[in-house]
Amino acid sequence: MRGLPAVHRLLSEPAVAGYESSLGRDAIKAIAQESLDRARAALVAGQRYDLERAFAAALEAAAAAQLQPVINATGILVHTNLGRAPLARAALDAAATIGAGYSNLEYDLGPGQRGSRYERVSARLARLFGAQDALVVNNCAAAVLLLLDTFARGRECIVARSELVEIGGGFRIPDVLERSGARLVEIGTTNKARLADVERALSPQTSLLLRTHRSNFSLEGFVEDLDSRELAALAQRSGVLLVEDLGSGAIVDMTAFGLPRERTVGAALADGVAVVAISGDKLFGGPQCGMLVGSALALGRMRGNPLLRALRVDKTTLAMLDATARLHESERTRLEIPLYAMLSASTDDLRRRGEAIVARTGHGRLVATRAAVGGGSLPGATMESTAIAIEANDADLFARRLRNARPPTIARIEERSVLLDLRSVQPHEDAALADALAASI
Ligand SMILES: *Cc1c(COP(=O)(O)O)cnc(C)c1O
Repeated sequence: MRGLPAVHRLLSEPAVAGYESSLGRDAIKAIAQESLDRARAALVAGQRYDLERAFAAALEAAAAAQLQPVINATGILVHTNLGRAPLARAALDAAATIGAGYSNLEYDLGPGQRGSRYERVSARLARLFGAQDALVVNNCAAAVLLLLDTFARGRECIVARSELVEIGGGFRIPDVLERSGARLVEIGTTNKARLADVERALSPQTSLLLRTHRSNFSLEGFVEDLDSRELAALAQRSGVLLVEDLGSGAIVDMTAFGLPRERTVGAALADGVAVVAISGDKLFGGPQCGMLVGSALALGRMRGNPLLRALRVDKTTLAMLDATARLHESERTRLEIPLYAMLSASTDDLRRRGEAIVARTGHGRLVATRAAVGGGSLPGATMESTAIAIEANDADLFARRLRNARPPTIARIEERSVLLDLRSVQPHEDAALADALAASI
């Protein structure tokens, strides 16, 4: 045991200094203590233990586990595991300005009295989507919860079996319905739902017709879907509310980017859907939040729900959301939202950037490939892209080396080639991508 160094000796090793900024002194101390405890246990058990190496490896693993930027070369633009939409400069600036000090978040500067947290952003979002009113909560899951809790608690909610989805992370529509105290009334079959099915299911207990976007799968073949306009008319006649969880929520016509047509928020509202719920960090390209847009009457009732207090967003989210919404107000400024810059990049642009990286590193070759929007939008749909392909003897090993590079770079593997898809890489990341690639060869 005497052979083991004291904690402070381990801490004075030169390699430690490099971790101080990312891990902090206390975490490093705890890792040193843990490594020493292991060494002691190994000694007692008569096993060999390379303390210095184990300590260095534990520091490296702890540093890799810190929240840090990575390069998304997967070709999936809205990647939930990688933080979804990158934020626009204007959104980040707004968060910094509002977050650094006090603001009139809930204060009306005119009379010098308490004001509303949501008023400004509600007005902007309502204008943007052509809706009467809008409300913002923590994410789209919270938006759905608020919808159901407000309108369907103790009542019946009709959902087509073809839309009883699990979105991911265990968020299943039937479970959320149950949680909110609504009674689920399923209609149709897995592949077909008709207006007559809905008509039959309506009862005095019905309060909601809920539609859900099929975010992560598509139905093909012998299928039939409900028509939103007919459904809206039926809802109106029957005095129930038609609401739609659109999830990703297309803002513009996605065919402009060579993608299939996707129902936009505006189209859903125009069809007569009373309330549409969408995510802030999917196709909107903004911060994590959930937006509810639609009829003033319905949104007024949700505003009065005490649950709203538990789902509310903070000032920096509101600042980022407002700034992002402002960028959506014209085609030109929309391109300042990173997601839309990536969606609109031409394959020529991607190829030129790829050629520069290949020339700089002397590795890989360019291949035409397909990128995906991801994030539960346009399931199965892909768009033209360009990737740097690296043929490695062991593709998994090479992908792992890229993940361990600085900055960590996430590639995808196709037919034993490692692909670095440039559509999901922002141009300002190219130099770092080249460095990571060169370091991993
Ligand atoms: C992604 C998605 C959600 C969840 O959105 P979050 O903002 O992550 O809470 C809900 N519904 C649908 C249809 C989705 O695609």
